[in-house]
Amino acid sequence: MEKQCVLVTGGAGYIGSHTAVELIAAGYDVVIADDLSNSDLRAVEGVRRITGVEVPFEQVDCCDREALGRLFRQYRFDSVIHFAASKAVGESVHEPLKYYRNNLTSFLNVVELMRATGRPNIVFSSSCTVYGEADAQPVTERTPRKPATSPYGNTKQMCEDVLRDAVAAYEGLRGIALRYFNPIGAHPSALIGEQPQGMPQNLVPYVTQTAAGIRECLSIFGDDYPTPDGSNIRDYIDVTDLARAHVAAIRRMCGGARRADYEVFNIGTGRGVSVLELVRRFEQVNGVKVNHRIVGRREGDIVAIWADPTLANEVLGWRAERTLDQTLASAWAWQKHLCGME
Ligand code: UDP
Repeated sequence: MEKQCVLVTGGAGYIGSHTAVELIAAGYDVVIADDLSNSDLRAVEGVRRITGVEVPFEQVDCCDREALGRLFRQYRFDSVIHFAASKAVGESVHEPLKYYRNNLTSFLNVVELMRATGRPNIVFSSSCTVYGEADAQPVTERTPRKPATSPYGNTKQMCEDVLRDAVAAYEGLRGIALRYFNPIGAHPSALIGEQPQGMPQNLVPYVTQTAAGIRECLSIFGDDYPTPDGSNIRDYIDVTDLARAHVAAIRRMCGGARRADYEVFNIGTGRGVSVLELVRRFEQVNGVKVNHRIVGRREGDIVAIWADPTLANEVLGWRAERTLDQTLASAWAWQKHLCGME
C-alpha cells in the first residue's frame, strides 16, 4: 500500500519537529514547510538524524499564496498539519496586525488550497487559551470559550471557527482542532527541543536557562493566587506525547470511520501542577538549583487551568504517557545539549 503523506507547516518549530518525528515513526511520509522566521534548520537536521529519513524541507512562508501553491503542486500529500503561526502572547498585544495577518492569512491560504486541490484532512494547532478563565476545572471540550484576552488567542478562536464553517460547507474537507495545554520537554535523544530566541517567555525554558546559568534568577509571577501554594496551576504536556496526538488525529481522519467532519480535542494530561511545584520537581529530578524569587503577577495570567482529556483518550485512543519527571529530565538534557555541557 502506498504510504500516506503529510505536509507539516511550521515543521522546523518546536512542536512541528517533534510531530514530524512521530509521523515518520508511525509510517507516514512527511514534507516539512517552514519560513524559518522563528525556527531553525537544525531542527530539520535533528528530525533527519533521529529518523534516518531525508525528510524533504521547503522554505515557504504560508502567507505567500503563490509559493504555497507551488508546494501543493509539487507534493502528493492528503493531510496537512498546520503549525505555522506566530505564538508570543505578549508580542501579539503590541503587534496585533502582525498576528492577524500571519495567523489568519496562512491558515486561509492552506485551507483554500486544500479545497482547490482536493486535499481532505487538516489538523489545526489550537490552544487551551480559547477557554480563558473558565468557571470550573478541569475544562472539557464543552466548556464555553471565553472572549480572547490577546490577539494571539483571538487568532486561535477565529481559525477554529473558520475550520468549523469550512468543513460544514465543503464536501470532502475534514478538520480536527487540537487544543494544547502547556507543551514542555524535548525529544529523549536531545537532538530536537524548544529554542526560544532571546529572553524566554515560557516557564520551562526560563527554568532550564536559569539552571544552566544563562539567566540569573527565575521570576515566579505571583504566589498570592487562590491555589494551594498561591502560584498558578497549569497542565504541562510532554511534547512527544503531544506530537503523538497529531498522529492519532491524522489516523482518525485517514481511517474513513464514520464521525463528525469537524472535531475538537483537549490535549493535556488531566493533572494540574503549580509553578512552585514544577520548579521544585525540576530541581529534584535533575539535581540542580534554580535560583528563583517571587515577583508580582504577570498581566493576563489566568489562575488555573487543566484538561479533562477523556474525549481524546476515548475517541483518538490517545493518552499522555510520560511522567512529569521524565519530561523535566528531557528538558534539562536538551538545555545541556544546547549549551554544550556534555
Ligand atoms: N511563569 C513564571 N515565570 C516565568 C514564566 C512563566 O512564573 O518566567 C508562570 C506563568 O505565570 C504561568 C506559568 O508559569 O503561571 C506558565 O507560563 P507560560 O508562559 O509557560 O505558559 P502560559 O500558561 O502562560 O501559556
